[in-house]
Amino acid sequence: MHKNLKQVGQMIFGRGAFSQLDAILADNRQGTAPMVFLVDHAFQARPEFVARIPVRGRDRIIFVDTSNEPKTGDVDSLRDRIRAELGKVSGLVGVGGGSTMDLAKAVALMLTNPGSSQDYQGWDLVQVPGVFKAGVPTLSGTGAEVSRTAVLIGPTKKLGLNSDYTPFDQVLLDPDLIAGAPERQRFFTGMDCYIHNVESLQGRAMNSFARAHAEKSLDLCREVFLLRDHWDGESDEKLMMASWMGGMSIAYSQVGAAHALSYGLGYVLGTHHGEGNAIAMTVLEEFYPEGVRDFRRMVEKAGVEIPQGVAAGLPPQKLDKMVEVSLGMAPLWHNVLGDDWKRVMTPARVRALYERM
Ligand code: NAD
Ligand code: ZN
Repeated sequence: MHKNLKQVGQMIFGRGAFSQLDAILADNRQGTAPMVFLVDHAFQARPEFVARIPVRGRDRIIFVDTSNEPKTGDVDSLRDRIRAELGKVSGLVGVGGGSTMDLAKAVALMLTNPGSSQDYQGWDLVQVPGVFKAGVPTLSGTGAEVSRTAVLIGPTKKLGLNSDYTPFDQVLLDPDLIAGAPERQRFFTGMDCYIHNVESLQGRAMNSFARAHAEKSLDLCREVFLLRDHWDGESDEKLMMASWMGGMSIAYSQVGAAHALSYGLGYVLGTHHGEGNAIAMTVLEEFYPEGVRDFRRMVEKAGVEIPQGVAAGLPPQKLDKMVEVSLGMAPLWHNVLGDDWKRVMTPARVRALYERM
């Protein structure tokens, strides 16, 4: 069976495009029902940016704390708060990195679907479309702006709300918005994109559609993280397109070993997604020899320290949980190793990989 891919409704790209957000939202307003802007808390300290958010009538800006990656409980309480304070809304606009993109997607869905967001962690469990949702990324790499999932940490698992209702109705890509991101964060989020491409290109789920996107995205990552000598508007544009195309690639293929291991780190230690992937990459040369070689060069060029010894001294139950979460990512390991993956990737082998990190 071939996948019938649901994509983002509309997309606008270009430096300065943020100034067109007001006009775009005007077309999507329902009477006087307000728009809700979920804005990453980093922008609380940037009043000049906040002043550019096109707030009209009863619209509301809610700053979201992304110190930790989003949880199902965060989504449910935001949904309850919006319902209680604003009633019917015209839509949600997420302004921030991958965490804010996922929060916006999930809250928009939970405003129309009954129950808790944890009930929808999985594949195609969402039953009805959410309210209008728009994504405005301020960090590039995750591909969350283009994907059909909203990754959430729930009480028992870290898993996305994967469905045809999840992609944004509208995405606004303005490379100027990623210019102010801290260097270290930009690196880790950018590495997420680089790793998406390495994993998808080496994976068994590869096909011409995914390859076309991954190869171009990989070239852009190399230009940005290996060949560039300083950040400028052009590298911001390239990174933003790399993220989009990397996201398109995995939407039609699959990620692999670094993500499978990163999910274990994220669940047990709270390690952030991009950083966890980077930590995992340091022990994956046998799976991705070329990818890891270039990754090490990128790390060196950026002058970023990858945390080491993260699993050292962990109580055995925690390490076991990490192994369990990682091995639970069956489609990812299948993508790396094929049908025989369970025989090859035993719990002992996963544990040994964690112990080397
Ligand atoms: P993030 O959204 O978690 O943000 C990281 C930090 O950067 C935060 O402290 C935030 O305040 C700050 N920040 C964001 N934009 C900034 C800016 N312009 N200037 C200054 N600070 C800024 O980081 P991320 O790496 O973009 O996203 C990671 C999240 O994305 C994880 O929760 C992960 O699970 C999710 N993810 C989702 C998908 C998907 O397809 N839905 C794919 C990969 C990852
Ligand atoms: Zn990723």
